[in-house]
Amino acid sequence: MRREDFPILNEKVHERALVYLDNAATTQKPQVVIDAIVEAYSHWNANVHRGVHHLSQVATQKHEEAREKVAQLIHAQSSEEIIFTKGTTDSLNMLARSFGEAMVNDGDEIIVSQLEHHSNIVPWQMLCERKGAVLKVIPLRDDLTLDVEAFKGLLSEKTRLVSVAHVSNVLGIINPVEEIIRLAHEKGVAVCVDGAQSVPHLAMDVQQLDCDFLVFSAHKMYGPTGLGVLYGKKEWLDKLPPVEGGGEMIEHVSFEKTTYNVLPYKFEAGTPNYVGSYAFSKAIDYVQAIGLEEVAKYEHELAVYLEEQLVLLSNVRVYAAGQEKAGAVSFNVYKADGGLIHPFDVGVLLDRQGVAVRTGHHCAEPLIDYLGVPGTVRASVGLYNTKEDVDVFVAALKKAIMMLE
Ligand code: PLP
Repeated sequence: MRREDFPILNEKVHERALVYLDNAATTQKPQVVIDAIVEAYSHWNANVHRGVHHLSQVATQKHEEAREKVAQLIHAQSSEEIIFTKGTTDSLNMLARSFGEAMVNDGDEIIVSQLEHHSNIVPWQMLCERKGAVLKVIPLRDDLTLDVEAFKGLLSEKTRLVSVAHVSNVLGIINPVEEIIRLAHEKGVAVCVDGAQSVPHLAMDVQQLDCDFLVFSAHKMYGPTGLGVLYGKKEWLDKLPPVEGGGEMIEHVSFEKTTYNVLPYKFEAGTPNYVGSYAFSKAIDYVQAIGLEEVAKYEHELAVYLEEQLVLLSNVRVYAAGQEKAGAVSFNVYKADGGLIHPFDVGVLLDRQGVAVRTGHHCAEPLIDYLGVPGTVRASVGLYNTKEDVDVFVAALKKAIMMLE
């Protein structure tokens, strides 16, 4: 699907044509996104919001149009609910500080799950330390899906927030976030969805999902690095305090008292990444021109094909095989005597053949510990990958296994 739009895919790695299967870490950028960055700095760069001059007004308009586009992408009720951040990690830290400040007290509880990315664990842990709150963890069932029954038991009068990944960055599993949100709301508990791995792969509708917060990164969806989103329902964002002080987030400043700006600016201190937001709007245009549903369907078929090919290999163990997934497949390779071949060694031999995959703990150590392995090999697809990419990858893997056995 439109491989020719991504110039980096013409690169050679170790004199081999690049097969890029590390999309869960970051995606490559289409020419329109690269052009947008060059265009911004070449033609209308100026600081936003404060200027009366032409360039500043152009920059402001493009930045605010990008916010509108993000709101439409996730079906937010209004662009006031879209806060631009540096990325998913920044969004989660901001939420933990803001929500934590206003809503969490000594003895309160926050719930995350066993399969979270560190970015959706550590900010909550830090909050718990600050406030004397307790972090509770939704366990996994044997098939590596979230144990929803156990989750019901964790929800209590003391629960203030549940924060879970929509799609696991290690396993690719789609978590039952609809059910989690429904159960949490029955108890009046707010839910944050980590959409870092879902927004790029699934059509997202925050109103239908009814999540209170959603976080994601532009760079995982063909957009630039250094830009992310914190979506929050307006009624929540109105209630929560700003996290950082400085320019843009103020209404009036005096030494006696400062009052804060309206949404979403209350949460956006300092010069925003307006070049990034513009480039991201071009990435959204690009994906929408192909069709979000179309992309989701194509990637799903590709991921299923990839998993099928891996399952055929007798010494490969695929994690959560057969589960409903989006984008990523994790596995390990075993020797005939049952010994695990270190995922790092597999990754290096794949790289020597031009195939880029990720190996290690994928910033999800509690999950990797639970699996009882030093790490996994993860192959993850994007819209430009093809069945031929998967075939090259599987052939390269077979060769690596022969060398390592
Ligand atoms: N959450 C999940 C599920 C992720 O996959 C990632 C990145 O891999 C993050 C959070 C952190 O994203 P970023 O590094 O863009 O802040």
